[in-house]
Amino acid sequence: MMTNSTNNNKNSALTSFRQRLGKIESEFLENNQRFQQQTLLDVTTLMLKMKLDQIKQLKTDIFNYNSPHFTNEYRILEGQCSKLQSDLDVLDLSGREDLRKERKDALMFVGELAEKLGKKGHADGRSCGECEI
Ligand SMILES: [Zn+2]
Repeated sequence: MMTNSTNNNKNSALTSFRQRLGKIESEFLENNQRFQQQTLLDVTTLMLKMKLDQIKQLKTDIFNYNSPHFTNEYRILEGQCSKLQSDLDVLDLSGREDLRKERKDALMFVGELAEKLGKKGHADGRSCGECEI
């Protein structure tokens, strides 16, 4: 037969086990929630990084463009500038204040690239006989 003291010890051991379990469980749930949020946030970061990589490539292509003529390549580069700008515009950054500056900077940079490309073509903006379009 158990004494009251043994019973109390057993009860308190059980209580402390339940408390520990409860603590572990709530920590697990917290971590899991944080992990899920992290995964979602990473997708946004990844998409922005992907655009930044494309911008880097576009920068190289525009810097290497070496003709005053409006060629097919020129139009493609021009189109890539617009596409990147609209892709960045529609990127959902809700709750990601940390990425807004990066996007703003990226948009400004693409704007500058488009301007640089524009300066490479004929100053009057008109096609000549040697232009492709
Ligand atoms: Zn021309």
